[in-house]
Amino acid sequence: MTYLHQATDTTPRPAAAGETTTIAPGGTPPMYTLTAVTKTYQQKKRTVTALAGVDLVIPAGQMVAIQGPTGGGKSTLLQMLGALDRPTSGTVRLGDSELSAAGDHALAAARAREIGFVFQGFNLIPTLTAAENVETAFADGSTPRAERREKARAALASVGLAERADHLPSELSGGQQQRVAIARALVKEPSVLLADEPTGSLDEATRDEIVGLLEGVWRDRGLTVVIVTHDSAVARRAQRRLRIAGGELTELGPGA
Ligand code: ADP
Ligand code: MG
Repeated sequence: MTYLHQATDTTPRPAAAGETTTIAPGGTPPMYTLTAVTKTYQQKKRTVTALAGVDLVIPAGQMVAIQGPTGGGKSTLLQMLGALDRPTSGTVRLGDSELSAAGDHALAAARAREIGFVFQGFNLIPTLTAAENVETAFADGSTPRAERREKARAALASVGLAERADHLPSELSGGQQQRVAIARALVKEPSVLLADEPTGSLDEATRDEIVGLLEGVWRDRGLTVVIVTHDSAVARRAQRRLRIAGGELTELGPGA
């Protein structure tokens, strides 16, 4: 499946014969459907419950913030959405494919095709330039080199870093490094952008700049965006706010 450029298309279309009514008007299933998702970790003899039965539907094109205390389950939930891990029980659907039942190969393929990640620590390779870091998104080698280079430069330009393409991460500010990471997350035009504390290492002014950039990306590209943050100033910019504590998810309502 691909949601590319469909997220903002709400044109109704006639239902096909035999089509189930779980499909929203506009013709696309929700981006995510999580049902009774649990995740437990075994630590020696102790069982740690990171997710305690999470039900969640995220429509395509929504911008969601997830808040909550340290250890509350935010990163674990993001790993489920990001096809980085499978739940202990329950189901995770991305569009019409069930990630919780997929094998490693299918999970990796879903990640590569549908999902861009941004992390608190930027996760750039220090010995590669900004452009080379963005190009690492094409790790599977199926994209010709010239096209990779061209797309990497365009992605950097789209985050305002055209002039810094040949700089190493150490030659860039924290905010610029996060912009490179965002370019890397977007260069393959994913359906979903997942960000785990993307402003957690930045000062306030830079934080606002990065959140503004993510918001612009969301608005312009019709992506589904999920941002984990414990910063309310960041969360207030989202369409929808959730909180997770003790592995339990609650709805906080729209940003306000
Ligand atoms: P948050 O991102 O909200 O700080 P996490 O999702 O990282 O929370 O963690 C939720 C709970 O699961 C915590 O109690 C944490 O210690 C535990 N946990 C997370 N990952 C692991 C792991 N790989 N092994 C064992 N326990 C883990
Ligand atoms: Mg975390």
